[in-house]
Amino acid sequence: MLAVGHISLAYILGKISSKTLKVNPSIPLLMTLSILPDIDIAIGTLIGSTIHRGPTHSILFALIVFTPIFIIYKKRAIPYFIAYISHFLIGDFFVGGHLQLLWPLTTSTFGLHDAGFMYIGINDPINITTELLLFTLTVILIAKTRDYRKFLKNNDKKNLILIIPITTVLLPNFIGYPFSMPIFSALPIMGIAHLFYFILFTIPILTILYNTIKNHKPKHTNNKIS
Ligand SMILES: [Zn+2]
Repeated sequence: MLAVGHISLAYILGKISSKTLKVNPSIPLLMTLSILPDIDIAIGTLIGSTIHRGPTHSILFALIVFTPIFIIYKKRAIPYFIAYISHFLIGDFFVGGHLQLLWPLTTSTFGLHDAGFMYIGINDPINITTELLLFTLTVILIAKTRDYRKFLKNNDKKNLILIIPITTVLLPNFIGYPFSMPIFSALPIMGIAHLFYFILFTIPILTILYNTIKNHKPKHTNNKIS
């Protein structure tokens, strides 16, 4: 799945789980966690190694990382955990597969195709249709629940976390990754969906930066020497 599918899937599951559990998770954090496993793409590029779909896509690793979070935040942590594991247990499992789901116990790979079923690639019409359906449902939900206000009118510094999805997934998708050409050339409609999230995530960051610069301007003093 591309970033659009992961983010939209986590948002929808986040809305369902938070309503069921009567909790109020941070939407920017939910969306960030949904693509966080793909930080291994950035790490792999930095260290010059192919570690994609390894430890960060492991359910065991996720359980280890989330255990202290569950102890501290209890049921409030559940939507975040679901957002993180939805990335590989749903998104990547059906699309692409080849996941080290049980790392560090084993480096064996899992997925729909690994289990002997059909292979669904990122370009596959099944994947594109699914991602666009999830995206459309997300846009409707964001509008209906007015969740867009959490991005547009918010000066919450915690929203700086959105730099992660922008730099690790959205920007690479625009430039070319995982295609050999920019997403607008490869799949224009998915390019538009990516642009939606790019704008939604960039606005709070620019707002925070603008307010920080504004508030740090030296105050005009009127200390005239008499
Ligand atoms: Zn992934």
